Formats: sequence, structure tokens, C-alpha cells
Amino acid sequence: MTFPLSPEKISQLAKDYQPELTAFAQQLIQTPSLPGNEQKIAAAVQAKMHALGYDDVFTDSYGNVFGVIKGGAGASLMFNGHLDHVDPGDVSGWAYDPFGGEVTNGILWGRGAVDMKGPLACMVFAPALVRAAGVVPPGDIFVAAPVMEETGGIGSTFLATHLRTDMAIVGEPSHNTLRRGHRGRVELWVTITGKSIHASVPHLGINPHFSLAVFLQKLRQLPMADDVTFGGSNVAPTLITTDQVSPNVTPGEIRLTLDWRNIPPESPAEIVAKVESLLAESLLDGASGSVALATRPFTTYTGITIEQSAVFPSFELAENHPLVRQAHQTLSAALMADVPVDVWQFATDGGHLMAAGIPTLGFGPGDETLAHTNREHIAIADMVTALRGYIALALTDWASALHAAK
Ligand SMILES: [Zn+2]
Repeated sequence: MTFPLSPEKISQLAKDYQPELTAFAQQLIQTPSLPGNEQKIAAAVQAKMHALGYDDVFTDSYGNVFGVIKGGAGASLMFNGHLDHVDPGDVSGWAYDPFGGEVTNGILWGRGAVDMKGPLACMVFAPALVRAAGVVPPGDIFVAAPVMEETGGIGSTFLATHLRTDMAIVGEPSHNTLRRGHRGRVELWVTITGKSIHASVPHLGINPHFSLAVFLQKLRQLPMADDVTFGGSNVAPTLITTDQVSPNVTPGEIRLTLDWRNIPPESPAEIVAKVESLLAESLLDGASGSVALATRPFTTYTGITIEQSAVFPSFELAENHPLVRQAHQTLSAALMADVPVDVWQFATDGGHLMAAGIPTLGFGPGDETLAHTNREHIAIADMVTALRGYIALALTDWASALHAAK
């Protein structure tokens, strides 16, 4: 495989920019950006895109940030890296300030180091370095930095309605290996309604707890969809709430939250149907019940409120899919090693992009098991390697692989 830049030249380019790349990743970590509060980091990313000579920099109504490096008439590519992060939790549990962006012995520490400010920094630099090297990429390169990934992928769900690139790369951490899919996540509410009564005369009411007990026993025995690659679906009951606050009144209604991780062939509608039939077999004493996808209102930093269901779609590109093969070839050539192909254990914005019809792959620096922990950190050398990979992906002509995929 040949690039307009040799793998050695790409490697040199990435190394030359290591100090600037590190400084930008530190700046991103030092800019807290919980979901719905990404205005400061959105401004920082836009400023960096302008400084790096992007042809166009803009935001949409949700506050997602976009930068464009114009290419030839070939296939367009979106790099996708979210701006927000999960809460750092108890700060005393961290060995390093979660928002300090400290570097020790070539390791960058802090909330978002792998998930995913380190990867985002690499994505912002990659197409700009292609430009700096005097090369025009085969097609337009978009760097999309969406808001509110951690609250259900609100930013990417919206951006996929107006930015229709030919394909996308999601930069969640993957140890710089190629990812071709992941399980989905569906959050469900199981509601059981009975009749509330004074606890001294329980026989006059309908206590939904007894139906719930039956339901939970059946749920535990429920056969789950299995899969060699993805390791099967699983379900976990998490929260229980009731409509009462007094300990001497039986509930009229209780609600159980289920966290269901689904393998690609299993759809949210199928999951709801499975839980519905299980619930129907569980109701006692005339209680009634219903199953629904959990929804919550969320407000973007731009002031838009949406009712979003907690569904992260699963996705899968086959191992021999032309885009997987092309990306494997590209990355292996650029990194001068055979780059493994695997799937992620967690859900990403890639599911939303795929659901919108944009073929998506994953590639990013860092150890994914550090995401959402108080030990979150990334090796700067891994970021430089990812930068090489992103430059190569930006230089790849995807037209024939996309054509073969149709
Ligand atoms: Zn993430």
C-alpha cells in the first residue's frame, strides 16, 4: 500500500508535533466538560482548528464542533471524538488532579486522558498535518467533536442528521488496534402497578413487590443471545423506585431499571418484547405491568432540551468487510506492524453513526479499561502512534472499498 507520504515521513511528522500535541491534550484535560457544560472546551477546540489552518470551523445548534480540511473529489471521512467526560467522582481517590493534565515519565494523567481527550487531540492534529506536509487528501476530512456522548450519544445522534460523510472513524481508546463493532446498551423501565393500602391490611391492596420478585427470578433464568465475537448479551437489574415514601404504606406502583447489553443482531424492539412476555408471566394478584425504554430530558450547553432514550445501538462490520480490510491494510502499512482487528466491550457513538447509515470503524490510543476510572492516563507515545494512524487514514482513498461494500 502506498501513501502520498511514506510511513517513515508520517512517523517523522507525528514525532515533530509531539510537544504541540501533548500541550493540546493537556489543555483539553484542564478544561472540565461534563455533559451539557462543554462550551469552554468547544471554544478551545475551535481555536485550535483555526490555528492549525482548517478550511472551515463551525458548530451546530447542539454545540457540536466541526473542522474541515478540504480534499479532492473522493470519499469524505469523519473523525469523531466526543468533548464530554464522566464525573471524576471523589477527587481524593485520584493520585493526580483529574483536571491537572500532569505529565510524568511520558504519561499524561487526568479525566478524559483516554476517554477521550487524548484521542481527540490526535484527531484534531491529523488532517492539519496532512495539509502542513503539502498533501491534498483524496476527499474532504471532517473532524467532529460532539457533545453529550456520555448521556446517550445526544450530540452524534443529531450531527448524523446533517453531516453525511461517506464513512467515519470513532477514536475511543483501542490500544491503537482496529475495532469493527460493539454491543449495544438499552436501558429499560419495568413498571408494575398494583393498589396501595395501609400496611396493616395488606390483603386489601395489591402489592406489586410480589410480582417483581417473580419477575426477577424469571429474569435470572432467561436464556440470553450468545455470540462468539461479542460474548453474548447480558442484563442487570439496577434501580428500584416506588411511588411511596412511608414505610407503613404498600406501594401502588414500583419501577425497576434494567441495563441490557445486546449483541448486534438483537434489536431494542426485540428486547422490549422479550421483557414484556416475561413480565406478563410474572404478574400476581391482579397487578398490571408495562415495559418501556427509559427516557430522560437533557439540555445542551446551547440551551436545547431533548427527551432522549438511553439506547446505544450495537454495530458490526464483518471481519472481511471491504472497509475493515482497507483500514487494516492502511494502519498496518503506516504503523509498520500487523494491526489486530477486534471489537469493543463498551458502546460508543459509532452505533449512532452506523444507525444513521454512515459506515464506521474504531481506532484510538490508550487503554480502554482505564476509561471512567480514577487511574485514567495515556502514554504520549501511544498518542503519537495514533496520530500516525489517523494521518494514514486521512490519506487513504476509500472509494474502491466503499464501492465494493455496496
Ligand atoms: Zn468515550
